[in-house]
Amino acid sequence: MFRHEPKERPEILVVDDDPMVRDIVVESIRIAGYEVDVCGDGVEALKKNEEKNYDFIVTDMRLPGMDGLSLIKRLKASSSNTDVIVITGYGSIENAVACMRAGALEYLIKPFTVDQIQVAVRKAIEHRELRRKAMEREFYRELSYVDALTGIHNRRYLNEALSAEVQKALRLESSFILLMIDIDDFKLYNDRNGHQKGDQALAQIGKLLKSACRGYDIVARYGGEEFAIVFPGAGPENAPELAERILRGIADEKFNGEDLLPSGSLTVSIGVACFPEHACTGDELIRCADKALYEAKRTGKNKIKIAASHT
Ligand code: GH3
Ligand code: MG
Ligand code: MG
Repeated sequence: MFRHEPKERPEILVVDDDPMVRDIVVESIRIAGYEVDVCGDGVEALKKNEEKNYDFIVTDMRLPGMDGLSLIKRLKASSSNTDVIVITGYGSIENAVACMRAGALEYLIKPFTVDQIQVAVRKAIEHRELRRKAMEREFYRELSYVDALTGIHNRRYLNEALSAEVQKALRLESSFILLMIDIDDFKLYNDRNGHQKGDQALAQIGKLLKSACRGYDIVARYGGEEFAIVFPGAGPENAPELAERILRGIADEKFNGEDLLPSGSLTVSIGVACFPEHACTGDELIRCADKALYEAKRTGKNKIKIAASHT
């Protein structure tokens, strides 16, 4: 599920052209119970890493061909998630600092002790585990804002995004528009086509709405067969055109089994509310747009109604 899923046992590559140093490093890490591969230069290290995607590379600074710093830069440029521990001689502290800047996790200065290597590796493993947990938390946080059926945002996200949008619009003295969209006669569509086709139609609408909007518009499934869109920066003058585009887009889309509906086509009704013209909070805007939506339903469906201005 996660790109950085930890392996049961971290895999480590030791890169050094000096067999003596290499053996000491390898033995120190193996004693601590980790798997270790070895190689003698940076080019080979990159190649091996492509095959195995190591958790860590412990590398000497000075290597034939490609040095430690270039190795780190190449790894980072390829968005590798491999961490690097650099080993350096006394004369090249500046280079070691450059390595840290380039993304190395830790550096060791020669001569080093077995303990130092083991502590560095253990620290690196802990660091990696913390990072994985943070990513896992972030993954679940994002998941809690996504509607499972359609893959677009859910009501919870919409509520938070609407509040943020109100704050932003107040700060920038700008406006935005909220559309509440409800499928017409969806109960009938379900009754005539089955719930599964109903689910497919909902997913299709989610995808269509998303593709009809810009990246920074907020598209959400509000619940059941109701969707919402927020168009940041839009004003009342844009409302008819924006809502019409959505209404037309769905009416023109082909849905499996829509011919079984009395109108022969799956359509929606849309209620529109504008900030700040119609309401000044997220909740009020939703209420206003919902009221307009109710009017659209009451007066025949497959149409758009814009909220009445508040006094
Ligand atoms: P209206 O034109 O007045 O909106 O009529 P409607 O039939 O669309 O509205 P109503 O509120 O009577 O019924 C909503 C229907 O939407 C009934 C319900 O089964 C269906 N529905 C809600 N959520 C889902 C879902 O997740 N999957 C499927 N397949 N149907 C759903
Ligand atoms: Mg409904
Ligand atoms: Mg409906």
